Amino acid sequence: MAHSTPQLPRIRILATGGTIAGAQIAGERGYKAAAFSVEALIAAVPQLTALAQLDVEQVAAMGSQDMDEATWRKLATRTQAALENPEISGVVITHGTDTMEETAFFLNLVVSADKPVVLVGAMRPATAISADGPMNLYNAVAVAAHPDTRARGVLVVANDEIHFAREVAKTNTTQVGTFASGHRGLAGLVHAGRLHLYAPPVRRHTSGSEFAARPPTGETPGPRRALPRVDIVYAHAGMGRELIDAAVQADARGLVIAGMGDGNLGAVALAAAAEAAKAGVAVVRSSRAGGGVVERNIEVDDDGLGFIAADELNPQKARVLLMLALTRTRDVRVLQQFFFTY
Ligand code: GLU
Repeated sequence: MAHSTPQLPRIRILATGGTIAGAQIAGERGYKAAAFSVEALIAAVPQLTALAQLDVEQVAAMGSQDMDEATWRKLATRTQAALENPEISGVVITHGTDTMEETAFFLNLVVSADKPVVLVGAMRPATAISADGPMNLYNAVAVAAHPDTRARGVLVVANDEIHFAREVAKTNTTQVGTFASGHRGLAGLVHAGRLHLYAPPVRRHTSGSEFAARPPTGETPGPRRALPRVDIVYAHAGMGRELIDAAVQADARGLVIAGMGDGNLGAVALAAAAEAAKAGVAVVRSSRAGGGVVERNIEVDDDGLGFIAADELNPQKARVLLMLALTRTRDVRVLQQFFFTY
């Protein structure tokens, strides 16, 4: 009896550059991000053809330190368009690792779909000895093609691990195990394409996100108007008030403090932040500590000073959420609720 081969899922790969597409240049120091096309990356992993049928689209070619709002919106639009195509089962986005957590969290909040969206990168350039990109790409396609990864929000795959967009952070400048999901742990493991999935995410995302109202087909998901300016100020012993004042003068609508410890500022900087909040700037206290919850009213009188606590979000993710939240409201109590919801 003849058996028909079941059709492989179709996965769209959206490429943006990064080290996964990077090349070492003979005789030169370092390497160049985004030197290879996505087709060249795929050609280096012929095993992919056994996992999925691949469509590819080069959305950008950059080191992700240059990631910006315009590219985020383009990526969101292309991701949404792919996911609305009934023939496509999921999307894989190749991306530099520097800002991968910010892009992943942005898409996690604005893309309206339950199909998998997986960001993938690499720490070693494609031309390096023992490059990590090919296995990461293989694993990312396996994750995007697997039916059980639906409705888990945007995921990041690297170093045999699967991370949730909200939890993941880059924690090491150069090592392949750079990504960590400290608070709530991994979304799962992936060993040469074999998945081990853990509990689903706890906070709202993608189709459950209020920033992800489904746009008319082809239009950009997310807020219609430009995101407001939100700056991050890094706190330190002996900090003055000048950088906080400069952010206010530059017309920042929001300010994220990468505070010491539990989101703290010394008295001088704290007074500047309180003045900013009084003047209507949304001030979010996050932490430079790399882990832990910033709670309200522990060492700082958030109620009295009109501040918002970042809860579990690191400064760069607090900035993404605050920009989106400020398109909805400037009410500090409502803004605080966003930080308890996402
Ligand atoms: N800085 C570059 C980027 O984020 C290269 C780092 C990487 O991809 O690991 O795109």
